[in-house]
Amino acid sequence: MDFAQQLVFWYGQNQRSLPWRNTKDPYRIWLSEIILQQTRVNQGLPYYQRFLEHFPKVGNLASASEQEVLALWQGLGYYSRARNLHAAAKIVQNEYGGVFPADYEKIKALPGIGPYTAAAIASFAFNLCHPVVDGNVIRFICRLEGIYEPVQSSLCRKKIEESLAGRIDRKEPGAFNQAIMEFGALACTPLHPLCRREPGACPFADVCHAFAHGAEAHLPVKEKKKPLPVWQLHYVLVFDRDDTVWLRKRGYDDLWRGMYDLPVLPQSPALDAAPVVCEADGISFVAHRTQVLSHRKLHFYFYKADAGAFGLKKYLEEQEDCLRVKKNSLSKYAFPISVRRFLKDLTIF
Ligand code: SF4
Repeated sequence: MDFAQQLVFWYGQNQRSLPWRNTKDPYRIWLSEIILQQTRVNQGLPYYQRFLEHFPKVGNLASASEQEVLALWQGLGYYSRARNLHAAAKIVQNEYGGVFPADYEKIKALPGIGPYTAAAIASFAFNLCHPVVDGNVIRFICRLEGIYEPVQSSLCRKKIEESLAGRIDRKEPGAFNQAIMEFGALACTPLHPLCRREPGACPFADVCHAFAHGAEAHLPVKEKKKPLPVWQLHYVLVFDRDDTVWLRKRGYDDLWRGMYDLPVLPQSPALDAAPVVCEADGISFVAHRTQVLSHRKLHFYFYKADAGAFGLKKYLEEQEDCLRVKKNSLSKYAFPISVRRFLKDLTIF
């Protein structure tokens, strides 16, 4: 058996049963690939099912409001994925009559679809010959071939693409791509690759550079990351009359654009001080949470206050982006996950 045959044979015996595996529907494949970016399979699975229940066809997603899409996406993070998903659905619906184009370049031109996702859709749905290169494939090929260039470098990328171009099964590129991704995810894993877990079990041990040189732990080569910049956000949950609270709509040029969070009072001397001081000013400190994104670390400081305290009401009424909403309508709004959890902890969500 050649490399591709061995790989597909291994896949046939070891693949996980996942709902998007048994379909050629490009909409379902696309949805699963976008959800699984930066997300573990177990976490993404319920989102995939919920999206399909709400939007069984691309046309349903295209005609949904942005708030509906963001509300369903809540908790997955990286909200630009949801916005791009929505924008791409509109293009498929309006420009391609609701039918995904069977063309790699046209797929790649859709918002939020890069070379990896385009290759996955093109090969899984249409059996077009485009190798997928995700983190699992990179690790496997770097070890197999002995590629020591840092994974972020263009030379590493070039070597991986050359290796895959020579190995892919041109008749069944979709099956080959599924198999190589699964092999990287389940067998050639970061810390305990199959060759170390079960000696003799890896079908590629005889030809694997890393195995021959005991270099699995050193490949792929990753450059050290710079420390992430830190952001601090002081959020105030302001209670007003008639069972209402104040929210803030995020701007269209920031991290959570189109979503809602809580008012931030940056000029407040009380909020610059230690939390205990705030009690005396009618604003009480409730919780501190952290969240690490790919590009920054966030510190959230949550406070609660009555609208009558500290001149808050007048201040909030002057803010164009702040609005008062009924507490029992909060589930209609899309929030960043830390804000949502905070509201849930206070049991007002
Ligand atoms: S021998 Fe080990 S390092 Fe090499 S491909 Fe197999 S599992 Fe990965």
